Amino acid sequence: MSGPTGIYLDNNATTRVDPRVVEEMLPFFSEHFGNPSSIHSFGAEVGGKMREARARVAALLGAAHDTEIVFTSGGTESNNTAILSALKVAPDRREIITSAVEHPAVLEVCRHLAKHEGYVLHIIPVDKQGRLDIDAYKAALSPRVAVVSIMWANNETGTIFPVEALADMAKEHGILFHTDAVQAVGKVPLRLAETNIDMLSLSGHKLHAPKGVGALYVRRGIRFRPLLRGGHQERERRAGTENTTAIIGLGKAAELALVHMDQENTTVKALRDKLEKALLETVGHCFVTGNVHDRLPNTTNIAFEYIEGEGILLFLSRVGIAASSGSACTSGSLEPSHVLRAMDIPFTAAHGAIRFSLSRETTEAEIDQVIAAVPEIIGRLRSLSPYWDNGAPRAEAFKPEYA
Ligand SMILES: *Cc1c(COP(=O)(O)O)cnc(C)c1O
Repeated sequence: MSGPTGIYLDNNATTRVDPRVVEEMLPFFSEHFGNPSSIHSFGAEVGGKMREARARVAALLGAAHDTEIVFTSGGTESNNTAILSALKVAPDRREIITSAVEHPAVLEVCRHLAKHEGYVLHIIPVDKQGRLDIDAYKAALSPRVAVVSIMWANNETGTIFPVEALADMAKEHGILFHTDAVQAVGKVPLRLAETNIDMLSLSGHKLHAPKGVGALYVRRGIRFRPLLRGGHQERERRAGTENTTAIIGLGKAAELALVHMDQENTTVKALRDKLEKALLETVGHCFVTGNVHDRLPNTTNIAFEYIEGEGILLFLSRVGIAASSGSACTSGSLEPSHVLRAMDIPFTAAHGAIRFSLSRETTEAEIDQVIAAVPEIIGRLRSLSPYWDNGAPRAEAFKPEYA
């Protein structure tokens, strides 16, 4: 069976499982199938391999202890677990701090807690470059706050937040600090042992491991309550027979991510920059969204004004190029992404925002093909756009505003 062919620039949505990860996993489906909780040799073998996986993930994060790694079903479970745990261990603290540009796996959890469980939610805004409003953050910190959950890097724009400094400030108020680092892990070198970050979420499928596996870093010594109760797995922090094969795959992917970290920040970054520069030069009326000075090396989010992102994606897809109009969760709706809205990107630009997210598997030949294909597509769509006339945007007055 062969998969779809083409140029895959949607690596922030998911990545291809690395063949070396698949190879590492294969024997653990039917050869070494034991339950790591079993006393006999079938279990012990798998248990040993899981310990190796835990050590590899801890090494990628720069954690002080392997036992700080709790395997989960992915980024969403890790985020839910971290936030809910922090609230349970500090029942007198009834406030939560997060940012306006979080992934729904954080933002929707917080919104639900505010709406249905009476928590006070501080949603810290960002500026036009996607940078966090540090004054608003400082003002929200108090001993009433149980948890801060702020992402390390944004999945739509790649903007990196200064989470280490944010964690230092939270600590002064005795607040637990959690970060959704799903997009940062594997792209940004991490030294968690040297930070005040208490909990960190990562997801396998964003770093060339399978879907449905992830981890939560839980700093040694912090109070913790599991989300799932049952057996004694994961030192009573996450019940349920472990997804051993996927965890072993995640371990291999973590090892490879460390090996390839330099490449992400040199080769991949150079290809991203080449793509971005070429598109900005050849296509008029477009700009990069997010903080270009502090950004993931693999991501560029370009707003092409006066056209619809869905149209761009469709035309790109016809020539075999896979990109995204921001988050998969908002596609299909006419609402522009909540991330770009939070940055106050004008409606006529936010609608035409396209995220190109590369990986270590992206080649220069692929980038050259994208550079060659995009300008014509944008031109064709603009010639059909009601906001566009004779090679130029229509009068300002014609721009619709946010509803
Ligand atoms: C993909 C993603 C998640 C969700 O992870 P899953 O493993 O798919 O549940 C959470 N946060 C960010 C920033 C992501 O990019």
